Amino acid sequence: MAVVVSKEEIGKEEIEKFYQFCKNSINTEVAAYLEACVRCGICAEACLFYMGENVAGRIDPTLTPAYKADLLRDIYKENYTFWGRIKKLLGFGVKITPEDLKEQVKLVFYTCTNCDRCTKACPMGIDTPRLVSIVRGALTYAGLTPKDLAEATNLSVEKGSPLGVDVQTFLQRLEFIADEYEVEIPIDKAPSDYLYLPSSIELMKFPSSVASAVKVLNRSGVKWTMSTIAHEATNFGLFAQSREVTKEMLRRVLEGAKALGVKHIITPECGHAYQSMRFVAPNIFPREWNFEVINIVEFIEKMIEKGNLKITKKVLKERSTLHDSCQIGRRGGVLREPRKILNMLAEDFKDSVLIPEHNICCGGGGGVLVIADADYYRQKAFISKMTLFDKVGAKTIVCYCANCMLALNKGSQELKRDYKFVSIVELVAEALEDQS
Ligand code: SF4
Ligand code: SF4
Repeated sequence: MAVVVSKEEIGKEEIEKFYQFCKNSINTEVAAYLEACVRCGICAEACLFYMGENVAGRIDPTLTPAYKADLLRDIYKENYTFWGRIKKLLGFGVKITPEDLKEQVKLVFYTCTNCDRCTKACPMGIDTPRLVSIVRGALTYAGLTPKDLAEATNLSVEKGSPLGVDVQTFLQRLEFIADEYEVEIPIDKAPSDYLYLPSSIELMKFPSSVASAVKVLNRSGVKWTMSTIAHEATNFGLFAQSREVTKEMLRRVLEGAKALGVKHIITPECGHAYQSMRFVAPNIFPREWNFEVINIVEFIEKMIEKGNLKITKKVLKERSTLHDSCQIGRRGGVLREPRKILNMLAEDFKDSVLIPEHNICCGGGGGVLVIADADYYRQKAFISKMTLFDKVGAKTIVCYCANCMLALNKGSQELKRDYKFVSIVELVAEALEDQS
């Protein structure tokens, strides 16, 4: 049975559910964010969707981050402020139409990747992604998740992955990778210290990335394994903002990690997987989630520091730049590590931003990539991203998130550009290749 639904018709029931979810999600933290906005508009120029439309010659004020929280703000005022209550009593309360909810779908599912760039720009420190997540949750609660996203989310609950990768397919892919790339892959090996989970996006679309991670892990000398229980790193519950799905996907990771007795979980080149396991899981399972969660890029940097891995070869000759994963980098704080590694790997690395936190999102995060109706906005957002690549004259772009690579490749093809996107872990594995 579908956990997340995508209704075509919007009636009174959906509107009421949306309203109640928003109302019940407002705590003091959320109220402070909603109150603090001074309508300065600074966040507009931080948002890749706003900027992309702007570059294309149109200014759409509804793409301003602050605007995404306006309906939520109205609901807050009506319920929690003196004048809001008076207005309601006088018959001037919030009136929500089906068109309003359709617009909310566009604002929070099509034109926001939860990249957090607007938060860093806001003089009041307003966490717009937090507000967007509430509106997403309210739409999902009302049965109004975009169709493609709902399907992928349900597939992940039913089969184990948004791409339908079940345990059997997982094992078949690992067998293929082991043969094709001549690597040994430990599966369900207990006791192990480290659990590494690939994302099904890598498994199905970038098998060489998984093979490279395996090579790096084997070379590092730690006791590690993959798991048939915890075999999927992605968590589409976060995109749909369904707590039920988020919890269920994390429960599987928890079960797999506990069964193997590991102390550390290594997340793959996948932005939101890092968010879900590093920051969301400890709040959902406060007693049981006793693992150190690190991203594969952090792991590599740690192993270089310890002397377990040595990079002595520059494998990238041409001008290159780095695309940061918003969820691992800006939101996760892993910005120094990929730069340090890339400086070891590349002869001509040029950062496209002075402050790493200011890098621009790929445009496909937060589930936007799987929503066909969001394509127009995603393509415009890619223009914002391209300006950074072009500014430093780089055609080779190093990434550390498979979803970013997919989104960037797609945007590049759609706009007929010739950028080349490469995984940092693959470069590390290549640099280690000839070492004994
Ligand atoms: S930058 Fe902050 S205060 Fe200014 S409009 Fe945006 S959210 Fe509101
Ligand atoms: S989180 Fe990113 S995509 Fe969403 S409104 Fe802010 S800047 Fe735009």
